[in-house]
Amino acid sequence: YPVESIRNFSIIAHVDHGKSTLADRLLEITGTIAKTDRNKQVLDKLQVERERGITVKAQSASLFYNYKGVNYLLNLIDTPGHVDFNYEVSRSLSACQGVLLVVDANEGIQAQTVANFYLAFEAQLEIIPVINKIDLKNADPERVEKQLEKLFDIPVDECIRISAKQGTNIEKVLEKVIEKIPPPQFNTTDPLKALVFDSTFDHYRGVIANIAIFGGEIQKGHKIVSAYSNKRYEVNEVGILTPDEQPTHKLYAGQVGYLIAGMKEVTEAQIGDTLFMYKQPVEPLPGFKSAKPMVFAGMYPVDQTEYNNLKSALERLTLNDSSVTVHRDSSLALGAGWRLGFLGLLHMEVFNQRLEQEYNTSVILTAPTVPYKAVLSSAKLIKEYGNSEITIINPAQFPDKHSVSEYLEPTVLGTIVTPQEYIGKIIVLCQDRRAVQKEMLYIDEHRVMLKYLFPLNEIVVDFYDALKSLSSGYASFDYEDAGYQAADLIKMDILINGNPIEELATITHNDKAYATGKFMCERLKDAIPRQLFEIAIQAAIGKKIIARETMVETLQEE
Ligand code: GDP
Ligand code: MG
Repeated sequence: YPVESIRNFSIIAHVDHGKSTLADRLLEITGTIAKTDRNKQVLDKLQVERERGITVKAQSASLFYNYKGVNYLLNLIDTPGHVDFNYEVSRSLSACQGVLLVVDANEGIQAQTVANFYLAFEAQLEIIPVINKIDLKNADPERVEKQLEKLFDIPVDECIRISAKQGTNIEKVLEKVIEKIPPPQFNTTDPLKALVFDSTFDHYRGVIANIAIFGGEIQKGHKIVSAYSNKRYEVNEVGILTPDEQPTHKLYAGQVGYLIAGMKEVTEAQIGDTLFMYKQPVEPLPGFKSAKPMVFAGMYPVDQTEYNNLKSALERLTLNDSSVTVHRDSSLALGAGWRLGFLGLLHMEVFNQRLEQEYNTSVILTAPTVPYKAVLSSAKLIKEYGNSEITIINPAQFPDKHSVSEYLEPTVLGTIVTPQEYIGKIIVLCQDRRAVQKEMLYIDEHRVMLKYLFPLNEIVVDFYDALKSLSSGYASFDYEDAGYQAADLIKMDILINGNPIEELATITHNDKAYATGKFMCERLKDAIPRQLFEIAIQAAIGKKIIARETMVETLQEE
């Protein structure tokens, strides 16, 4: 395939707007997979993805399509839809020249539509608007087209109306991909330049790196070098994804495919790395922002005799999900374990579910915390840490305010899209979460987009649920990293019968201390099994008790 007949594209959309279903139809219509009733989200390979109906890891597939007598190679890269996985989206996008922006004809533009649009727009990709689910009774494609025009300046007549479910107008989508998305501008005669945009681990074959070729060509036997590590490898196999790996003789500039080259650990196939030919170094491609963990939690085996099993399960699972960070940790009550960093709460739940399903383990997870920072003022501590600014991922390590000149908390810029009748309640909710309004815009007569700057810790636990329940499920939410801000933070201890329990300590904002303390004591009261003796549960800041619950002996009551 000459470069002119290659198109590399992604599908981006708000969750449930139909990315995976459209991908299935594209795979069918191009004969990549057989047309059966059972093709349900073929690119969603993981069990947890199928169960939860979400895409966690980006998958690629190469499609072959004949259009006006020319054979085209279309590389489709699926993207995850949830906010936690936004970095996966930008990863996939850097291997593309265009995107299909899918919007549900009934729901219209949602928070992730906005976030994903800007990711693609900033990457200067060709954006093809697709209105999906026109078969639905309440579909209103005209209204959605007007929203797209108002918010993104997309001309109304450029939108393609489809039903991914029924297969309506899928050919039109392929035609637009071929006509509007530019072919990659890369040369086969240049020296090899390959971008690693994803990697997975196979027990038998080792690391399988997904690569996009920005120059030159690559085949079995080539000696290549990683710009990141400077390590040398010999290529064992290259091929395309259909969507299973299918070996090919070569991969050329402009193509997307996979590579196996004796890499034993996923860390050797660093996302964003550039591979080049041995003795023909090239200027490395700008890598990606690496995934930044936003939520940390302690993980311990339920039974310490399971420690080694859990350890090897963790090692294997993190091989396939390099966005999880792992530090060894231990606790008096829970024994030896780890402190893990995740991209968000859903990511944490999904990881935990995969551990249980794929490795048959059971674990204790401590309450999640966000990465706070402290600017130290104590010379002794600065020397101890070797830095005047430290990141606190474990409340047990919260430095005392006497040795700190300032605490900092992570913030995010949140986008909320909602029908207008819920605005009042949503504004109250956001204020309660210490958020500051940045923007309010009507995207049509009935719908509003709100932007707020949130302290991250105020949204990690139950913000999304609260938003959904007060809007009867109609408001959507997405967020992006917005750096750190100064914050009046304190550490809150929980005491059981007067003894502080390290694992239950939390970091909270001063204004929220009483509410948090009360909430935690109440929750613990419900969580601790009833005993035959009295138990006092207290929340304390330093020596000061701010909340208390007492569990009294209740045998007679039952
Ligand atoms: P994703 O989260 O964007 O990947 O969305 P999915 O492809 O998983 O689709 C979400 C839900 O919408 C599934 O239940 C699909 O069957 C359904 N769906 C997708 N496309 C259509 C469509 O064109 N019409 C209708 N009625 N339902 C659709
Ligand atoms: Mg999906």
